[in-house]
Amino acid sequence: MELKCTIQMYDWGKRGMNSIVASLIKSANADFIVDEQKTYAELWMGTHKNGPSYLKDTDVPLQKYIQENIETLGGNGVQMFGSNLSFLFKVLSISKALSIQVHPDKKKAKELHELYPDIYKDPNHKPELAIALCPFEALCGFRPLDEIKDYLNNISELFAVVGETNVHRLSQAADSTISDALQQCFYSLMTCDSNKVTQQLRSLIDRLHNTDDSYRQWIKANLLERLHGDYPGDVGCFAIYLFNYVTLQPGEAIYIGPNVPHAYLSGDCIECMACSDNVIRAGLTPKLKDVETLIQVLSFECKSSSVKKIQPFREDTFTQVFRPPVSEFAVAKITLPPGRPSYSLKPRNSPSILLIVGGKAKISSKIFSRGSVLFIPANDEVEMKVLCGCHPMLMFQAFSNV
Ligand SMILES: [Zn+2]
Repeated sequence: MELKCTIQMYDWGKRGMNSIVASLIKSANADFIVDEQKTYAELWMGTHKNGPSYLKDTDVPLQKYIQENIETLGGNGVQMFGSNLSFLFKVLSISKALSIQVHPDKKKAKELHELYPDIYKDPNHKPELAIALCPFEALCGFRPLDEIKDYLNNISELFAVVGETNVHRLSQAADSTISDALQQCFYSLMTCDSNKVTQQLRSLIDRLHNTDDSYRQWIKANLLERLHGDYPGDVGCFAIYLFNYVTLQPGEAIYIGPNVPHAYLSGDCIECMACSDNVIRAGLTPKLKDVETLIQVLSFECKSSSVKKIQPFREDTFTQVFRPPVSEFAVAKITLPPGRPSYSLKPRNSPSILLIVGGKAKISSKIFSRGSVLFIPANDEVEMKVLCGCHPMLMFQAFSNV
């Protein structure tokens, strides 16, 4: 069943046909008009109430269809996840940084939703997986401690906003007190007077004009200038010295578990997560920054970014599966080489959503191509006859990790 999916026009998205979100929708719907002035940030494929998908032929909400056809969830689906999809599948097209954020774990999400239902709109956790479609940049998790200390002690503007006492305490911290000392540093940065932050950022940006290349590289001057250009005076600009800077090549992926701070900075990616929209924001955003909640839940573990990358399992010659350590979702990347005439998708234990990013195929007498999004019931075997044999066919399929 082909789906019609919701587009989110957040202001950090790429504009017009530069956005892969717009270009996918346009490719699958010739009459869709792309406005070159508008930002097409995210495509949501699933049943989340903030951006539900519909069956294209009948306009029935996917959620309603599943509830009326409960067998589509497969044997254990209902017991594990209720009468709903366990995941939300997305395409992101990022022109400027998304907010620095964390997602609460299940217990905290439930608590926050009960207390502040207008801000935390559902009671679920939101672990997420991002697979790059082009070179992709993100901030993810606290840096190894030595790197953080090095930046704190050698960037006077950062030292000034974090505060001498806090920097000193972190430098002297024993293993058992590192996490507390880092928490203090981060809290002090996030709650620093905004005029002081603006002034220190300005002075840092100004002095970078007269420094040599190796210093500019160490201090990540290009990144800082870019973030400051998009979010002038925002405390989040300093976060690049506390968080790992990660770059992904197409096909590489990161997994972000509960309570891990992160911000996607640029690029296009496939994203999959538990079906939730709970975000606690800390910076690089005009939206509400909930620093008190953030500090309570944040993981202050300091690890190199390489541990956040997740390696796929090869399922067959053409399919790699990314399986994060949660039951709600896994994502298969399927690449069929040119000239491959047919392929049968492996049946999954749960319902799945298939997105075609490149190529064209015939599935039960209908033709689907770039931008087509299909809902596949649990245990269904899907035979596809590949058309147009001169380019590889690229697809991503999200399903429950059960
Ligand atoms: Zn996130």
